[in-house]
Amino acid sequence: MRFCVLGSGSKGNCTLIESGITSLLIDAGFSGKEITRRMALINRSPEDLDAILITHEHGDHVSGAGVLSRRYKLPVSNPATHQAAATRVKQLHQRWEFDTGTGFVVSDLDIHPFRTSHDTVDPVGFLISDGVNSVAYCTDTGKITTLIRQRLRQCQALILESNYDPAMLLNGPYPMHIKQRVRSNHGHLANNDAAAFLVELCDTEVQHVMLAHLSETNNHPDLVMAQVQQQLGNRARNFHLELARQDRPSRLITVGENKSEQKEGEGEETISFQRQDGRGESCIRP
Ligand SMILES: [Zn+2]
Ligand SMILES: [Zn+2]
Repeated sequence: MRFCVLGSGSKGNCTLIESGITSLLIDAGFSGKEITRRMALINRSPEDLDAILITHEHGDHVSGAGVLSRRYKLPVSNPATHQAAATRVKQLHQRWEFDTGTGFVVSDLDIHPFRTSHDTVDPVGFLISDGVNSVAYCTDTGKITTLIRQRLRQCQALILESNYDPAMLLNGPYPMHIKQRVRSNHGHLANNDAAAFLVELCDTEVQHVMLAHLSETNNHPDLVMAQVQQQLGNRARNFHLELARQDRPSRLITVGENKSEQKEGEGEETISFQRQDGRGESCIRP
């Protein structure tokens, strides 16, 4: 499997996940044009997509979903969220709906949507597996629930929210009611909460962690890395840690063995995660 966070933050979220046979987007929070541009940067096209999975109806997750869906006739999956997003997404050619908590299949990928804790009608994260490896996506959640804990322990690669620094939020420019919303159990995940959760994941198969949905107002990339490294201590070497950016795609990252041939020119951009003997030495740059 491979994944690339095409962009993440309050101005738009979009992640590509592919098996070599199947190609999915999680969220489409940029314009259709911008998503097409970002996919082209990693030699991909919306024409290759099999589905767009939507986590929840906020604009930074669905703004391009309707356009892409109408242009490429993609099934956009979601439950009550579909109705809540209807004014933004508008008319669709076709759509799938799933029950939150019930797995479904898109071609050779198993998709397990799980409930997150956010102030929308039916917010979800996803655990996506090709039968051997899995990638989990979990942003826009005010807390790590027991269910989220269970799901995220099963993956090899994790895209996890690290939205704000509590002190920056407290002293920042947001009005009090927005500050309260962000830090509530149905808001966003703080850096220290993300880091504390990573500590819990040290004894799992999670090898690659992409911290995402960083606030531009209440956070800073250097601060996130410093805080997470500090809380993890020596355990930081258990993970290959990276930050997703708002303005540009991440590298295209390979998780486990790939089912298909590598496309030309991608060799230097990928990381292979075949584990050697012992944790902390498991990341091999090709
Ligand atoms: Zn949201
Ligand atoms: Zn969001």
